Amino acid sequence: MASSERLRARLQERLHGKVKLGEPLSRHTSLRIGGQADYFVLPRSVEDICETISFAQEHGLAWRVIGNGTNILFPDEGVRGIVIKLGPDFGRIEIKENRMKAEAGASLAGVISAVRAQGSRELDFLVGIPASVGGALVMNAGIPECSISEVVARVRALTFDGKLITLERDDCRFGYRRSRFQEEKLIVIEGEFRIGSGRSWDGAALLARRRERQPLGVPSPGCVFKNPPAAPPAGQLIDQAGLKGYRVGGAVISAKHANFIINEGGATSRDVLQLIDIARSYVLKYFGVELQLELAVVA
Ligand SMILES: Cc1cc2nc3c(=O)[nH]c(=O)nc-3n(C[C@H](O)[C@H](O)[C@H](O)COP(=O)(O)OP(=O)(O)OC[C@H]3O[C@@H](n4cnc5c(N)ncnc54)[C@H](O)[C@@H]3O)c2cc1C
Repeated sequence: MASSERLRARLQERLHGKVKLGEPLSRHTSLRIGGQADYFVLPRSVEDICETISFAQEHGLAWRVIGNGTNILFPDEGVRGIVIKLGPDFGRIEIKENRMKAEAGASLAGVISAVRAQGSRELDFLVGIPASVGGALVMNAGIPECSISEVVARVRALTFDGKLITLERDDCRFGYRRSRFQEEKLIVIEGEFRIGSGRSWDGAALLARRRERQPLGVPSPGCVFKNPPAAPPAGQLIDQAGLKGYRVGGAVISAKHANFIINEGGATSRDVLQLIDIARSYVLKYFGVELQLELAVVA
């Protein structure tokens, strides 16, 4: 503990942002699950992120960036190394003419409001997704009709060796809940969006559809599995396998939407992983479909 505190203090000396020791990750995930991060950094600037990664390399520590923690499962044992959270200090949203720049820590709700204030409803398809801009770009978040990749023009990202690069949309290798940022462990710093020429969405209707179909207001990570390419949606397969309402400990396959696992109280990461295994094996056995995770599971 003493040497952990010494390391924390050394990293703290190099940063403007805050470094915490033993931060419970359950506070930073929508599932409300996860043990402690050895070191938890809230950077104030890109320089802080670069310093943190250099520090991690110097001391042989693993590191990972998170946004709003709405699609991630951390182990009950916690995470060795450094978790870097891009929060409100990366929350700037700036609109000039038909371009909006939004930093990675801004919320999707924030960018939707900013665009609405310009009289546009082009980002309303993202309504109800509780993500940060960074997490949404990394996951290429969206709904069946549209994804964030369709409205982003370019993305500023940081390589693990501290270079800031700008990638045009076509270079981001966006796919269904996939992006180059995942593949190359790039840190998303900012997205630039085109506004003023795209499709307008009825956010209220989309939110009503979400409320009708999804268990909202309870701890969950949203969809656990990706929808398989040539088969019915994952939720339908899990439902048809008879698993709605199936429980392990405090974790339950939602009775409302079978692709959501909810934490009904006291669920552990192990409970969720067990449910994931059960859903996968039932769907494979009954339908011959191998479900792929959408949820980022941290080992
Ligand atoms: C109620 C609910 C409804 C949801 N509905 C939808 C939906 O309709 N559509 C949809 O697509 N998703 C949905 N989600 C899932 C989730 O909101 C998205 O996957 C979202 O993109 C995750 O963003 P986040 O900021 O929470 O990222 P996190 O969960 O913090 O991280 C997700 C992954 O991205 C990485 N990451 C995060 N930020 C950065 C960054 N700046 N740079 C590099 N890597 C980063 C993390 O390491 C992790 O691997 C829903 C979730 C909930 C809880």
